[in-house]
Amino acid sequence: MPDGRLRVAVLGCTGSIGTQALDVCAQHADKLRVVALTAHSSTDALVKAARAHGARFVGIADTAHATDTALQELPEGCELFVGSEACAELGCLDEVDCVVLAVVGFAGIEAALKAIAAGKTVAYANKESLVCGGDLLMPQVSAGQLVPVDSEHSAIFQCLQGERDVDVRRLWLTCSGGPFYGLGREELAHVTAAQALAHPTWTMGAKITIDCATLMNKGLEVLEAHHLFGVDIDDIRVLIHRQSRIHSMVEFVDGSVKAQLGPSDMRIAIQYGMSYPQRWDAPCEPQDWCQEPALSFGKADEVAFGCLRLAREAGRAGGTLPCAMNAANEVANDAFRRGACGFLDIERIVASVMHETCVERVESLQQLRDCDARAREAARRALAEV
Ligand code: NDP
Ligand code: MG
Repeated sequence: MPDGRLRVAVLGCTGSIGTQALDVCAQHADKLRVVALTAHSSTDALVKAARAHGARFVGIADTAHATDTALQELPEGCELFVGSEACAELGCLDEVDCVVLAVVGFAGIEAALKAIAAGKTVAYANKESLVCGGDLLMPQVSAGQLVPVDSEHSAIFQCLQGERDVDVRRLWLTCSGGPFYGLGREELAHVTAAQALAHPTWTMGAKITIDCATLMNKGLEVLEAHHLFGVDIDDIRVLIHRQSRIHSMVEFVDGSVKAQLGPSDMRIAIQYGMSYPQRWDAPCEPQDWCQEPALSFGKADEVAFGCLRLAREAGRAGGTLPCAMNAANEVANDAFRRGACGFLDIERIVASVMHETCVERVESLQQLRDCDARAREAARRALAEV
């Protein structure tokens, strides 16, 4: 931090989390300096962000977009990296102190492993890489190096400050229930991607929005919490809480429960990912708690929303099964968005791929890549049969 400002790389800067991270950087320009940015294929948006924030390094993961004319407008002296490996390297540059990992999907895993190995602090949003690679990643993480950005995990991380691991009884992950809360299987069979994309409380990228509708998002989050906090899968409970004000809770052995509350605005968790262990001025309007409706709680329906049940099963089995499950879900989620399968087919495809997966202990990134590729292939075959 040569000028006292934290030097930030935002990997996946053109997405929902990435653009909100850049907004936080702009609001705290006295504390944060954007030095590196990456995107997959959105070169226009990448160049715009690089110009607005004066980035010195940019990366484009999809080589097919390396010659887009938009890239000619990069700021003077800005260095361009091309390809997914090169993008992962951007987080390891000497000029970077903190990586905001905002890539979506398994694709973020290499950048995650590299940034952690390089000793960078990571504001971690890319839950899929933790679900698949937590066994490889977590043993390398030093205290305070990885700060979760997912709102539930940020909440739990905050509740755990100053507490001892042995005093934790269980975690309560709150869940809005998604747009199809309360529907049964017969109705779920006919819902569309457009309906699913109308999420009640959060505005997010398309993939996670569909995951919220199937509750696979909550399933991924159970596994994410398991890796981040070392808590058994069955001690992580899902709590339906429609208002999304309580972001999650920790129950301690003495019966006391700590919760973290706040507006439904991801910028708070993203900012904490960069400010930790400090707190900085809020990046959004405060909540007027006098005006809030009553908070409600309920149980998740794991029969209607089978993806949550499947994720728990994958978490209990461990090894490479969560990686296979995640890959199948990425394929099925994408197919549903394209209208190539129905809502309940997502769960069917994931179940079928899990069923044919031969579970191994996680030992290397290459093994996870192979598992991911095989599971995608199996998911495409299952998709062709629905
Ligand atoms: P988006 O789809 O909005 O953005 C994804 C970003 O990753 C974009 O910058 C995209 O670039 C880039 N990207 C996509 N595919 C690849 C790839 N193969 N290689 C490298 N970069 C890629 O996603 P979100 O911002 O919604 O989510 C990001 C992560 O954060 C996910 O893991 C999600 O689960 C997690 N998360 C998101 C929340 C939210 O509110 N959105 C809340 C909690 C967690 P391009 O624009 O060029 O395609
Ligand atoms: Mg979440």
